Amino acid sequence: MDSSDLPPEFTGPDEGLLDWYEREAADLPWRRSRDPWAIWLAEIMLQQTQVRTVIPYYERFLRRFPNIATLAAADLDEVLKLWEGLGYYRRARNLQRAARQVMEAYDGCLPRRAADLQRLPGIGRYSAGAIASIAFGEAAAVLDGNVMRVFARLTDLDEDITRSATQRRLWALAQDWLHPTRPGAWNQALMELGRRVCRPRQPDCPRCPLQTSCLARARGTQAQRPRRRPRPERPHHDHVVALLRNAQGQVLIQRRPEEGLLGGLWTFPGGRAMAEDASLKAALQRCLRETLALEARPGAALAPVQQGFTHFRITLHAWECALVCGPEESPSPETAWVQPEELDSYSFGGAERALIANWLTAATRSNATPR
Ligand code: SF4
Repeated sequence: MDSSDLPPEFTGPDEGLLDWYEREAADLPWRRSRDPWAIWLAEIMLQQTQVRTVIPYYERFLRRFPNIATLAAADLDEVLKLWEGLGYYRRARNLQRAARQVMEAYDGCLPRRAADLQRLPGIGRYSAGAIASIAFGEAAAVLDGNVMRVFARLTDLDEDITRSATQRRLWALAQDWLHPTRPGAWNQALMELGRRVCRPRQPDCPRCPLQTSCLARARGTQAQRPRRRPRPERPHHDHVVALLRNAQGQVLIQRRPEEGLLGGLWTFPGGRAMAEDASLKAALQRCLRETLALEARPGAALAPVQQGFTHFRITLHAWECALVCGPEESPSPETAWVQPEELDSYSFGGAERALIANWLTAATRSNATPR
């Protein structure tokens, strides 16, 4: 489908969209800045994350890293710590890699063209279009989930929008319809319309500036658009970890490899339970032996923690453990013995953070605060 496939009565979005945006645009911190770095940071943080969640992270991050050079020079640990809780940590690692490339290849100035932006780590077609149009006024389109929904309803598109052929056509429409002189405002208006008015459930059509040209509204099919195939059920895994203490009361933590899930963040030693393990405790003992050559005796169990990721779910099981045999010093360069009160200064994923909170609460209740 391109514009020429649409019925003759279809007129597409018009200037009314920009009028609506000027009247209704939310006052967001990144909209008060013309600084390409601030706009880039916002676009990365906003991927898969709600605006109200992003705001405090954005403000803290920008205070600590007011420009690309400060981020490029920082320790990854500090970057991840500031990102902790925002999720999708690959974004933070890529952001820093990209900042370093910008320092080396572009003298610290973000490239202005979407095609060049897309060569930087973590900047895909959508983010490149958003940054280039908003920061530099390039006529580059955007197509995120919000814009896709608006377009699927405007055109009453009866196709599975997860198909790549459908997405190619939607990209073509986004480029066709892009405002020639105000691409940045146009893109932001579409994204904001999808977020606030053309919502996934119960779109607020009476408030929509595009209601007179919307085919789904005319045909009453808003609830069926966009059409997508049902997501498969996410598989579930059990993960087992040890809160392993040494004679000084320190607990052992382990840094995850940089590549991969939650890369660069800290966790507790352990691993994934397998079907052949006799029990979850046996799985833990096997994992400690295989990964760190440690023998441990599991004691009290903590309340398990559930966490969902994009493609699977986990239950994190943890036990306080005594070291039976193994090195008292750090058993690998990626591990450290730390006092419980120091855990707060390390970056952990959401499940580990919940586990630490459970652990400290349980210890306080039993009047045995971890030293
Ligand atoms: Fe979405 Fe309704 Fe506007 Fe159509 S009229 S674009 S369905 S909010």
